[in-house]
Amino acid sequence: MPMSAVRGCQEGKATPKFLEVKCPRCKEAVEVFVYMGGSADKTGRTTADEKCPECGYVIPQGTPSERLERY
Ligand SMILES: [Zn+2]
Repeated sequence: MPMSAVRGCQEGKATPKFLEVKCPRCKEAVEVFVYMGGSADKTGRTTADEKCPECGYVIPQGTPSERLERY
């Protein structure tokens, strides 16, 4: 049986990672998803608009996670 190298589709595919960050406005915990891996312009950026449940502040899609405070 030949050992065929199974090529996963990992390359180029961004995997969203769950993060809890502080709302920039009211410091309430907001759950965001951040792309890990994939293209460099997406890595570490939020996958979608996330609204703060407390004050309604929207963290826009594409916000770099380093700009957000970890909860
Ligand atoms: Zn808030």
